[in-house]
Amino acid sequence: MKYLIIGGVAGGATAAARVRRIDEKSEIIIFEKGKYISYANCGLPYYIGDIIKDRERLFVTNAEKFSRQFNIDVRTEQEVMSINTEGKSITIRKSNGEEYNESYDRLLLSPGATPMRPPMPGIDSDGIFTLRDVKDTDQIKGYINNHSVKHAVIVGAGFIGLEMAENLHNLGIEVSIVELGNQVMAPIDFSMAQHVHEHLVSKGVKLHLSSGVQSFKKLDNNLEISLSDSTTINTDLVILSIGVRPNTKLAKDANLQIGETGGIWVNEYLQTSADDIYAVGDAIEYPHPITKKPWLNYLANPANRQARIVADNMVNGNIEKYEGAIGTSIAKVFDLTVASTGLPAKKLKQLGIEYTSSYTQSNSHAGYYPDALPLYIKLTFSPSDGRLYGAQCIGYQGVDKRIDQISLIIKNNGSIYDLIRLEQTYAPPFSSAKDPIAIAGYVASNILTNAMPVVYWRDMENAPSENILLVDVRTKDEFSYGSLDNAINIPLEDIRDRINELPKDKKIYFFCAVGLRGYLAQQILFGNGYSKKLVFNLSGGYKVYKTATYNIPQTHIINLDTNTENKTEIVMAHNIIKIDACGLSCPGPIMKVKQEIDKINLGDRLEIESTDAGFARDSESWCQSTGNKFISSSNSNGKYNVIIEKGAPIKSCAVEHKDCAKGKTLIMFSDDLDKALATFVLANGAAATGAKTTIFFTFWGLNVIKKAHKPKVNKDIFGKMFSMMLPKDSTRLSLSKMSMFGIGDKMMRYIMRSKNIESLESLRQQAIEQGVEFIACQMSMDVMGVNKEELLDNVTIGGVATYMERADNANVNLFV
Ligand code: FAD
Repeated sequence: MKYLIIGGVAGGATAAARVRRIDEKSEIIIFEKGKYISYANCGLPYYIGDIIKDRERLFVTNAEKFSRQFNIDVRTEQEVMSINTEGKSITIRKSNGEEYNESYDRLLLSPGATPMRPPMPGIDSDGIFTLRDVKDTDQIKGYINNHSVKHAVIVGAGFIGLEMAENLHNLGIEVSIVELGNQVMAPIDFSMAQHVHEHLVSKGVKLHLSSGVQSFKKLDNNLEISLSDSTTINTDLVILSIGVRPNTKLAKDANLQIGETGGIWVNEYLQTSADDIYAVGDAIEYPHPITKKPWLNYLANPANRQARIVADNMVNGNIEKYEGAIGTSIAKVFDLTVASTGLPAKKLKQLGIEYTSSYTQSNSHAGYYPDALPLYIKLTFSPSDGRLYGAQCIGYQGVDKRIDQISLIIKNNGSIYDLIRLEQTYAPPFSSAKDPIAIAGYVASNILTNAMPVVYWRDMENAPSENILLVDVRTKDEFSYGSLDNAINIPLEDIRDRINELPKDKKIYFFCAVGLRGYLAQQILFGNGYSKKLVFNLSGGYKVYKTATYNIPQTHIINLDTNTENKTEIVMAHNIIKIDACGLSCPGPIMKVKQEIDKINLGDRLEIESTDAGFARDSESWCQSTGNKFISSSNSNGKYNVIIEKGAPIKSCAVEHKDCAKGKTLIMFSDDLDKALATFVLANGAAATGAKTTIFFTFWGLNVIKKAHKPKVNKDIFGKMFSMMLPKDSTRLSLSKMSMFGIGDKMMRYIMRSKNIESLESLRQQAIEQGVEFIACQMSMDVMGVNKEELLDNVTIGGVATYMERADNANVNLFV
């Protein structure tokens, strides 16, 4: 028997070795148009980035060794030009141009794929590369060594593009990524890709998403790239990684069937439309086990598995079926590991397959054992029977084992219940007794059985406040560091006491940090007769929302890893107090910072190490609002290092002026919408200058600070009459002029919204956050039958004496 194999790398070399193992006597010839066979193409980016230092390590073997070991005729630098299916022969061209024919009994095609290089102006300029093989690698490496490459642009943010970004960054090259889609890494959903965006930016990589290259121009010393969003980038090196195309020319010319996605068609035995010709690897298309539709899957593991199956079938006849690939992939993106298997939500949507999804965040191992780091998991599954469709996992440790286990369940047609049934190893350094996968399974099963009706981060963006009550069940401190617009804060512990504030006839969206407390709050309500059709929990909590809505900054955060000069300056000039906040989740780290900063002197610095991803972001805005100085943030292997310098508290006046310590007081007598707006605008402005600001709410002004959802309180007959006649809360206030039976107020709110002007309620919340003191007049409350419980939590009750004391210390007093 004579076997000819076209392509000598992943699929080709593996199949050849397997054929020899099961058929000692046959003749086997490999044709490889390149110089090398059986090399590690997956390692090429790491050789460019000097992580793999020795070039020889890329070669698993060489032609001579392989040939001797397996008794296989290996012909490198020989390209197969055509296949004659009738005569069962192929035509080969040697590197010297000479051509000859070779006959076969069985032929295997494993010609791989070719990187795309679209025709566009300047694309053939010097300094623009694609990466597929050793030749490309040597060219890129040579170019970097012989030119002063300070900046590189990666076009296309698939896994090869991102691996190249990291490796070029390792060489000290500044990197920008240009991607036509609105996210990096197509196999994962946008909300998960946002983790990667945030991480890339934190490493100093500049991201140009939703933006395509229009042209390249060679300048004297570098290249100019014009983007579709009218940006131009000057760079020294370009790596094009915008995808690959299956190599099908040989097959097409030989009239072999090409499938609907453009790959070589094969049957379940990996046999092409010609009986004696088989094909594997990047060049073929094959039905996806879930969708049953053919797809192209450019990964090394399927190529190797197919190679073994095909060898058996070529030698022994068609005995082994290939089951297909669901696309299980993993990539290291700087310190992050990003992996996925099966179908993401966007693909399911595109295919019209009904699905549900769940988000969870767990620690990679027991939280009490050092260095536990977060692991984010998104599952997609059938809403009818829980069949698992896909999973995406992002983290720093243990991502691979989780995604591999889930992949096995999906391939066995398993469901989310199989995630719970998995029997896993456990010891504190490796996992938790409840593994992140089990937690993902429990959460998914709660969604599936409707024990936890959920909403998703996209639902929050457009949640209309008049129909939906957003309830943040995190602690007051967590709430004060940021929450969703229009959300009210009822910490989980207070839900039972404040249940009267939660209406039974209106939709309630609960949310907490990662989803657990929201779920517990839901259970309290369900136990108290609330409808499952009205009470929802935000899947994955505020963290998923915050990550998914993260705005990619256009400026880089200074990374101390690459800024050694700064580091020396810091060490010499300041007292640095180190804080270990690892393992604490939001707002733990920032609370710790607050405690510690109170103890140190002006100009001293805190260096905080934390494993909470949102911490660097929170600490920057915390510094802005407290007068401390945000020095830097960097991260490495899942740990965030933030340096903050103690500054003068922002609320003390920084301007030298004899009256600067004086406060401002405002008396809010009216409950007209326009006057209330003006009052909060003024109060916020005053507070921003550091002045102690007080608003004294009296008579009709009390209506401005009434809760939207008031508990039931006992009132006398006059109190009840006032309640009926007065506006229920701030959303019912009218304009002082042009009210037009209420149309005027609505118009005013509409115009404010369309012009992005804050609503009365958010201006009021800002005032609270800025420390503006709200005093309700005790006498007015008595007269109008208003109870303390009906007013916002932050309001203090006081009389004329309290107001006079504040006015005495103020240099501006306004009556509105
Ligand atoms: P290849 O391994 O590309 O082999 C095809 C060979 O056929 C080539 O050497 C080509 O020269 C030869 N050939 C083509 N036409 C002819 C002809 N007419 N005559 C003679 N020879 C011919 N996958 C992963 O799963 N994980 C990773 O981390 C990963 N990293 C990667 C990193 C890089 C930089 C690249 C380029 C790929 C990576 N891949 C990765 C993808 C993986 O390498 C491919 O899926 C796999 O190599 C496909 O195997 P194949 O045999 O189909 O093609």
